[in-house]
Amino acid sequence: MDRVYYLDNNATTKTDPEVLKAMLPYFSENYFNPSGVYSPAQDARRDVENARATVAKFINADPKEIIFTSGGTESDNMAIKGIAYANVDKGKHIITSKIEHHAILNTCKYLEKNGWEVTYLSVDKYGIIDMEELKKVIRKDTVLISIMLANNEIGTIQPIEEIGKIAKEHSVYFHTDAVQAAGKIKLDVKKLNVDMMSLSGHKFHGPKGVGVFYLKRGVKIHSLSQGGHHENNKRAGTENVSGIIGIAKACEIAAEHLNDLSDMVRIKALRDRLEKSIMEKIPEVIMNGHPDKRMDNTSNVSIKYIEGEGMLIHMDFEGICASSGSACTSGSLDPSHVLLAIGLDHGTAHGSIRFSFSKYSTDEDVNKVLEILPAAVVKLRSMSPFWKEKNK
Ligand code: PLP
Repeated sequence: MDRVYYLDNNATTKTDPEVLKAMLPYFSENYFNPSGVYSPAQDARRDVENARATVAKFINADPKEIIFTSGGTESDNMAIKGIAYANVDKGKHIITSKIEHHAILNTCKYLEKNGWEVTYLSVDKYGIIDMEELKKVIRKDTVLISIMLANNEIGTIQPIEEIGKIAKEHSVYFHTDAVQAAGKIKLDVKKLNVDMMSLSGHKFHGPKGVGVFYLKRGVKIHSLSQGGHHENNKRAGTENVSGIIGIAKACEIAAEHLNDLSDMVRIKALRDRLEKSIMEKIPEVIMNGHPDKRMDNTSNVSIKYIEGEGMLIHMDFEGICASSGSACTSGSLDPSHVLLAIGLDHGTAHGSIRFSFSKYSTDEDVNKVLEILPAAVVKLRSMSPFWKEKNK
């Protein structure tokens, strides 16, 4: 393959070279275990704690409220199981939404098999939950509400601040999965009214295999793994020092980009040009997600009378990387649970493609998609009996 046109940044992002540079010494000369008593180990401890302070600043938290994990999935597990197990005396009811990532949904399903009850809130056609429904389903035995900040497939942004207020009024803990939002939207745990928040390094130009779990001071969770006294007794295991340094550097760089805004403006312009041209060039398409309450980097388009998987293969031959759903579900033939939840029928959901941009995306990436996609749609539709029937 000569060149890759990478438009799958909600699946993962390229590690920023500055992040890699910051991490490298921790594989070589600075390899020490931060738990050691000798000076080089104490230097590693200092660097980990400085990284914790950087991450805390990024989300307006206190360093003591930051727990380093192995990624978004582990942070989500910590929130759901951690609160569930610690609050069995209060109740065994959890509220989440139908469009969460599988890290949340499958953890909830696991708890359901073990005696907990979970309410899955529905969403409107844009992917936004209904506040009135939320208020109605809160019960005396509800211990946790977990609603994602931004959806990985359609980009829709939930009214987290408002949900947080409702949770507070009912004395229910509130967690948000902000894995997709980090680096794209300014995060302030105090403004957002959250008790817990999940982040993942590889979604904003940091390394894979490292994440953050924000746990508000005073909120008690059950620890999921037993071992040493790492991470304030909340997450046993020798720290992933290089990963921690990497995610902190990614936060530092993302904060600069969020302040400067020029990258986000450029990313949005690329995304909007792609969407506008697709609408102009291809009949019978639907843009999924909220028109404005949506991450600037995400585009999810349903192209009727085609199979998204077929289109992905077609684009792959040309070096274009996109996705037909979340990376975790591609490979399965089930239509995306998110697209079904916003009301698409199975056929339309199957014809959906997600393009997601980053600061490394270019005009060439968009041009390549526009060169390939319209002709490929014509070809795929010419093989569709439904399309032929429609155009008889
Ligand atoms: N939550 C959301 C919204 C995601 O998009 C992802 C990854 O796609 C995760 C959680 C899981 O994160 P990780 O890959 O770090 O386990």
